[in-house]
Amino acid sequence: MKKHEYSGAGLELKDLTLAYGDIDVVRKISLRVEPGTTTCVIGPSGSGKSTLLRGINRLHEPKSGDVLLDGASTLGQHPDQLRRKVGMVFQHFNLFPDHTALENVALSPWKVKGLSKKEALRVARERLDEVGLRERADHKPRDLSGGQQQRVAIARALAMEPQVMLFDEATSALDPELVNGVLNLMASLSGRGMTMVVVTHEMGFARRAANQVVFMDEGQVVETGTPDDIFDRPQSARLQRFLSEVL
Ligand code: ADP
Ligand code: MG
Repeated sequence: MKKHEYSGAGLELKDLTLAYGDIDVVRKISLRVEPGTTTCVIGPSGSGKSTLLRGINRLHEPKSGDVLLDGASTLGQHPDQLRRKVGMVFQHFNLFPDHTALENVALSPWKVKGLSKKEALRVARERLDEVGLRERADHKPRDLSGGQQQRVAIARALAMEPQVMLFDEATSALDPELVNGVLNLMASLSGRGMTMVVVTHEMGFARRAANQVVFMDEGQVVETGTPDDIFDRPQSARLQRFLSEVL
């Protein structure tokens, strides 16, 4: 099968600040993700990685700063509008338990995007094929492995034809033997022009698939660089300590 090629948008964060109540948990983060590239975000638990991703697609409303897609500010857009362009994959797959894999993927193109049911099912079959689950299209989530469920969740996000994909610890809930199937799919997307921001504890994946690695601590970007910069030549004591704990 000829693999689908993507043309992801450029993403830029400008002084993005996100708060819970009075506490700023993401503080003035500025970042550029070039079109079709993958940025991995690493950092200790509680450093603000999930909140940052949720700010990008406005599951969490920013306190200040801006998010730009292909140079255009998105903060004036309705969050629903933005979320069609920015797909997100979570640690827990959140599939609809009473729907088949195919229906899970077809539902948003049909109900949200307004494709005909027939066309939505066609798109859904293509995306399931792409994630290697054509044979599982009629299975309910409970009859799929965790890795297969996560691949359905990725197919579901892709079916909306997003310009950017966000992944929040997409493999953290999986049994170890299922992790690589999902990481390989993510690496394949990354190699086919999708723009991705990937929060991950998988340092091997970051090294192999990232164009840029961002190290966050206490709500701020401490270091940014190529995988070689970050893993072989960490500059700050905080990154050196983090790497010594996870590698
Ligand atoms: P990470 O994903 O890097 O582990 P998070 O973005 O989940 O970090 O959390 C960043 C900070 O925000 C942490 O200090 C966390 O305790 C706090 N936080 C996360 N969710 C909430 C919430 N719903 N209410 C209040 N504080 C929160
Ligand atoms: Mg998190």
